[in-house]
Amino acid sequence: TDIRELLLSRIRDVTDYPEPGVVFKDITPLLADPAAFSALTEALAEIATRQGATKVVGLEARGFILGAPVALRAGLGFIPVRKAGKLPGATLRQAYELEYGSAEIEVHAEDLTAADRVLVVDDVLATGGTAEASLQLIRRAGAGVAGVAVLMELGFLQGRARLGTALDGAPLEALLQV
Ligand code: IMP
Repeated sequence: TDIRELLLSRIRDVTDYPEPGVVFKDITPLLADPAAFSALTEALAEIATRQGATKVVGLEARGFILGAPVALRAGLGFIPVRKAGKLPGATLRQAYELEYGSAEIEVHAEDLTAADRVLVVDDVLATGGTAEASLQLIRRAGAGVAGVAVLMELGFLQGRARLGTALDGAPLEALLQV
């Protein structure tokens, strides 16, 4: 469709970043184009509304740039999931495996309640490790999951399969598939 072509045309492939053999999907040209940025925000906000979300979680760092306007447009609160050590209040922390090594993310525990249905927003779903850990945080906080919404899914990395258990039937919606 038109919006998909517009979005795709504003994503730049950067070869050999951050390491040799990797093609990085760079969304900064999309962010710099207000028509594309607005269309993306609108499409993700429509998912939030359609899935009955009560809160939007954005994953550091590009998930903040997308998640905040999505939350505002959908009339919902925004909650940052950050790399460990960045949030000042009482947090829940979740470790997850990377290709080489591991990482940890955190959320402010009091930001999520049992009444919430949370939509997780990020730019790119790659291996799915970050999104999976964020879903585990949301469930440990006692909240429900409305789904995961991303601009782009890198299908060859099998992130969708990795998210299966953590999604527990909630939808993963990607505007673009690679
Ligand atoms: P994961 O492998 O799905 O956990 O991805 C880790 C994080 O890196 C996510 O927050 C993604 O947004 C980001 N990421 C991975 N690959 C790309 C890319 O090609 N472009 C932009 N972000 C990426």
